[in-house]
Amino acid sequence: MTLETPIEYLSGIGAEQAKLIKKVLGISAVEDFLNFFPIRYLDKSKTYKISELGEDENLEVQLKGRITDLVEIGGGKAKRLSAKFHDETGTMDLVWFQYSQWMKTQIPQNKEIYIFGKVTLFNRSFSMAHPEFEPMENKEQETRLRPIYPSSEKLTKRGLHQKFFQNILRNICAEIPNLIHENLPDDLMKNLKLMSRQNAFLNIHFPKNLDYFNHAERRLKFEEAFFFQLSYGLKKKYHKSHSEGNPFPVVGDYFNNFYKNHLPFELTNAQKRVLKEIRSDLKKTIQMNRLLQGDVGSGKTMVALLSSLIALDNGFQSCIMAPTEILAQQHFNGISKLLENTDINVKLLTGSTKTSARKTIHEELLNGELSILVGTHALLEDSVQFKNLGLAIIDEQHRFGVEQRAKLWTKNKIPPHILVMTATPIPRTLAMSFYSDLDVSVIDEMPTGRKPIITAHRKERDKISVFRFAKDEIDKGRQIYFVYPLIEESETLDYKNLVEGFENISQFFENYNVTMLHGKMKPDEKENNMKYFASGKAQIMVATTVIEVGVDVPNASVMIIESAERFGLSQLHQLRGRVGRGAEQSYCILLTSDKMTNESRKRIKTMCETNDGFKISEVDMQLRGPGDILGTQQSGVVDFKKLDLATDGKIVKTSKEIVEQILEKDPKLEHPDNQKMRDFYLQQYKGKNKWGKIS
Ligand code: ADP
Ligand code: MG
Repeated sequence: MTLETPIEYLSGIGAEQAKLIKKVLGISAVEDFLNFFPIRYLDKSKTYKISELGEDENLEVQLKGRITDLVEIGGGKAKRLSAKFHDETGTMDLVWFQYSQWMKTQIPQNKEIYIFGKVTLFNRSFSMAHPEFEPMENKEQETRLRPIYPSSEKLTKRGLHQKFFQNILRNICAEIPNLIHENLPDDLMKNLKLMSRQNAFLNIHFPKNLDYFNHAERRLKFEEAFFFQLSYGLKKKYHKSHSEGNPFPVVGDYFNNFYKNHLPFELTNAQKRVLKEIRSDLKKTIQMNRLLQGDVGSGKTMVALLSSLIALDNGFQSCIMAPTEILAQQHFNGISKLLENTDINVKLLTGSTKTSARKTIHEELLNGELSILVGTHALLEDSVQFKNLGLAIIDEQHRFGVEQRAKLWTKNKIPPHILVMTATPIPRTLAMSFYSDLDVSVIDEMPTGRKPIITAHRKERDKISVFRFAKDEIDKGRQIYFVYPLIEESETLDYKNLVEGFENISQFFENYNVTMLHGKMKPDEKENNMKYFASGKAQIMVATTVIEVGVDVPNASVMIIESAERFGLSQLHQLRGRVGRGAEQSYCILLTSDKMTNESRKRIKTMCETNDGFKISEVDMQLRGPGDILGTQQSGVVDFKKLDLATDGKIVKTSKEIVEQILEKDPKLEHPDNQKMRDFYLQQYKGKNKWGKIS
């Protein structure tokens, strides 16, 4: 038997069964079976008492006692069998949702027996669904936990029960000494007290006890994290030694003049630190690929501008690309204003730029008169050619694909340095894995003088008092946002809600000006309404999530979110970031109905408790899982077998540090101590990862 042996060659599996297993479980070779992990275990080595029970997700337990009071209850689909189970320490409920009349007669009553199953806590008492049972006299003695594998009706219907899988895996596990080889260095294993690879596979399938299971699981998680980090570490090293970049050796007049004479505020320490990190990248002859993470309002735009000035001091052009027209317009307005007393030429290019203006831009880009170009993905068009693009800044990475990022590389002979800015804080473990091909800078400090936004949860029925509060704030001179959900599945219904909301609000606030913004509007209508609000002429903006990204009206200090339970956490956080931009105390009010799922309750609670985007992103990941945070296209990247980025932060961090130490000392993995690791890596990542090649 080898890892590659097809499963139809294993004893106990016929050709038809092999086909079915392949189809349903995707298992075709011995190696796949070894990586087919149990979802929980049955502990037959120990007989539990009802008084000792707790809820352990990994375990099914064995109990000894009597079944009584067997009755059929409910009707139709809710029909089920119910019974009591007693031992000398207590009583619990048993239930069968699907059963045949024959099965009913097989359940032994008033007789001492063993039962097995997963215990759940319901209404403060324990119960067990579909227990297996065994008369006293048949009981076999087992010394290890018995694995329960993920299965499906399709398989059990065709006779592929747990016993079947347990037998196959028992046979495979007997061959582990020939199949499994260590892939981590001895020292590392010793220092981290990791179980050997062979023992880990044996104990993940047939654990000696729960303690052994925990060690086995930890070892397998570590291994997964380790080789993932190794692959990215090698990729990064490869990239750094292969991608040429234009060095920007000087900081000159453009930067210094602006810094001394036009900077409207003192930079925060975090901004200064991040600039230093960028500056040190830009000096090198290697292309910069840096991710700048900073919460909404942390001042990323200024960092972008100052970086562009360094490019300019070295004779290079820059571009800043934003995901929406509104955002590009705002960046442009902000930057033009900051540069108004300088002679630096900055222009805006979007889909709606007029042909004549576009022509000027094209010309000035080519002759080098234009220094900074702000825009949307219109910048990516082939007709946009630069004289010498040195720095490309991308705002809000989540909305641009990696391919688009790569398209910017081609805009100059030597690719421009790349700075990706994101206001969507990503949990550390996720950033460490998913972005490990980028260097990461974090602005973790807000400009001084900002008051934290006060967030409150109110029910729909309290709306009038919320409206009154809003009125008071307007009378103090503030402006208000009302946000309505707009999600694609029910777009027409949402649209109706938005329009109705707009009418209600206009009625209640009849002496004020109310304007509206949503995705179906024409660009110039959007722009007019936005201007109407930004200029202060309208006190109230009723909008969908179009305003999520980047909108900046410092005088707006109240954000009221309708049906807040329908928004995701990161979206709520982004929306809230639209207020709290000025000196005034700001408020965010989350309106919900009475009916909420536990998950939406948790989201609302988190929002009320903290303003910290990183904390919020951690909770978001606990709730949704890492794949959903990155979006479906990218979720494959974090598709681990055992490792869970939401809960295994410590393992990710340790593995990353260790991989960095190893690659620092032995970048090509040539040292004899690292041979096992190197062989395994080459075997696993063969052809999958061109950057990760150890050359
Ligand atoms: P981000 O893009 O990170 O969400 P912005 O760059 O739009 O944030 O900055 C938010 C606001 O804070 C802007 O009005 C900006 O002028 C201001 N700002 C940025 N840095 C500072 C600072 N160091 N001190 C005071 N205000 C700042
Ligand atoms: Mg911004």
